[in-house]
Amino acid sequence: MFWRAASSYDGGGMVGLTCTEVYMLGTGSALHPARAQSSILVDTGYAILLVDAGCSSLNNLLRTGRRLEDLDAVAVTHAHYDHICGLGLLSFITQFRGRQPPIVVAPRGSLRIVEEALALGARSSAKPSSTMPEVRTIAPGEVLSLEGGLKIRALAAEHTVEALGFEVSHRTSGSIVVSGDTRPAPQISEAASRAALTIHEATLPSGMEGEAHASGHSTVAQALEIASLSELGALYHLTPLSEAEAVERARGSRVLVPQDLGAVKIC
Ligand SMILES: [Zn+2]
Repeated sequence: MFWRAASSYDGGGMVGLTCTEVYMLGTGSALHPARAQSSILVDTGYAILLVDAGCSSLNNLLRTGRRLEDLDAVAVTHAHYDHICGLGLLSFITQFRGRQPPIVVAPRGSLRIVEEALALGARSSAKPSSTMPEVRTIAPGEVLSLEGGLKIRALAAEHTVEALGFEVSHRTSGSIVVSGDTRPAPQISEAASRAALTIHEATLPSGMEGEAHASGHSTVAQALEIASLSELGALYHLTPLSEAEAVERARGSRVLVPQDLGAVKIC
């Protein structure tokens, strides 16, 4: 069952009609009783990207019917552990199977921790040969072109450590914005205003603006406002504090509060 957003792509040109599928593999914060940690899967039909790799992200990727080997790239928003704990498992499994791992994209300030997480997983496989994932760093405003015509643009986020949001696009569909962990940030709002889909974090309930600002997070009302700039929005990184308000406030709007594995098709 998919929610749908139309694409800004007009269907002209040489490319056949494809749809981009977006799965919310993990919609919870670091420790939520019923939601996996942050992870969003984008499948353009030409390439598959994971934005963040929470602990259960690879298990949930399999639940969409895809294989680990299908994954072309993982874009890390920041190095807080709930966003990268799947990276060790990724390098462990690819190393163990002797497969080429996907490229990992990360902010420069996350590089050391990301490489350590990948190295720990690889070392635990006890395989002598090394096929560590290539890690490419990216800064706000930069665009990386990846496998299958996939483009990701880094957006400046505002968190307690160096953090990015990502604008993901492909020539066949409108763009998808994923905020990562952030308080409201101008580059993310700007990208949201032209996106087919914006997935924004909503960690804290309204009324806790001060706490949200101090911890580099957004309240439900702030997240709703930004996600509403796009044709379709979704809230994630939910906590037991923010979840009920998010569901209540989003009712009847163009902003979804999906459970894990909720999906949007952009055609
Ligand atoms: Zn964080």
